[in-house]
Amino acid sequence: MSNRHVYNEPIADTSLVACLHCDLLQRLPHLAPGASARCPRCDKELWRHREDSLNRTLALTLGAALLYVVANTVPMLGLTIVGRAASTTVIGGAEHLWSNGQQMVAVLVFLTAVIAPALQIGFMLAIVLGALRERPPRWVGTLLRHHPTTRTWSMIEVMMLGVLVALIKIMDYATVIPGLALFTLGALIFLLAGMQASFDSREVWERIQWADGEARRAVGDRMTEGMP
Ligand SMILES: [Zn+2]
Repeated sequence: MSNRHVYNEPIADTSLVACLHCDLLQRLPHLAPGASARCPRCDKELWRHREDSLNRTLALTLGAALLYVVANTVPMLGLTIVGRAASTTVIGGAEHLWSNGQQMVAVLVFLTAVIAPALQIGFMLAIVLGALRERPPRWVGTLLRHHPTTRTWSMIEVMMLGVLVALIKIMDYATVIPGLALFTLGALIFLLAGMQASFDSREVWERIQWADGEARRAVGDRMTEGMP
């Protein structure tokens, strides 16, 4: 444990970044809101300083949370076949799959279309609200580290594509009544994309630096002490 501060500590200079695409180490300049910095070697974007990132992300996340609740409470689809009518919600669809022997698919649908989007929205809401506080708490960093995983597993758009293909195929045999949830989910896809696009994780990291600022300073001091 005594070597804890010697190895694998963050460096004191946070403007140093490695390009995600070609690994070139470089220093990020101060950017005006809306401006972006590009890698001089591979020309990929290193960082875009988004305008009013936290407030815009908060607004889009609140909108997404509202749409998510609506999308999971109202019917997504209604079907009328020879006089028999049935309608289902997203969760109801997963339940039907489960009871029809498609347990694996049911779990996947439930995970990717219900749980992961909820986590994606919930984590983002907590991160932004935490980062907006005067002294952002430590857990903001923990959530920020895990947020990309929730994003990877959130696949509402894949489910929508599947539903639309199935709808077009079934149209010859039954009357399909698109439910409110179908349109809400469509709007949610765009809101989630907007939420991710307006979010600037670098800004949040800069705001939560105070939490491990002491460790960082200590390393910086040792590095300067070691210099001749
Ligand atoms: Zn590069």
